[in-house]
Amino acid sequence: MGERTEHLAGIVLRSVPYKDSLSMVSFLGPEGLFSFSARGIEKPTSKGHFLTYQLSCCDVLLSVSSDGKRLSFKEGAALSVPDIRDDLSRGVAYSLAAEATSLLVREEDGPEAFRLLSSFLEAMKRGEEPLTAAAAYLAQLTRLIGYGINVDGCAVCGRKENIVALSFQAGGFLCADHADFYARPGALYLKEIRFLSRVDLAVPFPRHLETGEAKKAIRDYARHLSTLTGVELKSIKLLTAV
Ligand SMILES: [Zn+2]
Repeated sequence: MGERTEHLAGIVLRSVPYKDSLSMVSFLGPEGLFSFSARGIEKPTSKGHFLTYQLSCCDVLLSVSSDGKRLSFKEGAALSVPDIRDDLSRGVAYSLAAEATSLLVREEDGPEAFRLLSSFLEAMKRGEEPLTAAAAYLAQLTRLIGYGINVDGCAVCGRKENIVALSFQAGGFLCADHADFYARPGALYLKEIRFLSRVDLAVPFPRHLETGEAKKAIRDYARHLSTLTGVELKSIKLLTAV
């Protein structure tokens, strides 16, 4: 009986060495999340070394165990790897996206998350301002996994006029009548938060955020996610260096 194999395309979320020379690779493809084992990939000379690069897009051929439960890497190739270009903001943007995706995306979000992550990688390849792309990705990933905030109207009454405050905890924008006790970050920041949740990552951005505003938005979303999910994004620390 011939060995069963499966050919798949997708994006590496992370690879973790676990025993002997085996690593477990988490992968996000058009059909969703899955993982497979790969031998020896930590070695720079290994033919599968590209699997250690977070967010590289690849084609892989996997062999399937006879019970169909275990997948292991046979061969494959990277189609594209993140291009950091010696640019700190690009490195931070890729790192945030990889970390948020691998820690927050659940089984059922898989196919939609793949489309969003692919669009983010396209935006980075196009050369969009990295922190704007990362902030938009985080905002839209937050909505995708069910923790989105209301940026269309007041989170309490739904009114679209006279929005003056923002509270992630209260569920989003707040109108003047419901803004007591909440932070009023200013009209520009409210506009940027709305922009981030709506901008289509797949096409050229009409504009980008100032560095300070983008960093604030990323930190606000990270805090919101940490409150709701307990997941702390370590890549946030890298923002201080940008
Ligand atoms: Zn209101």
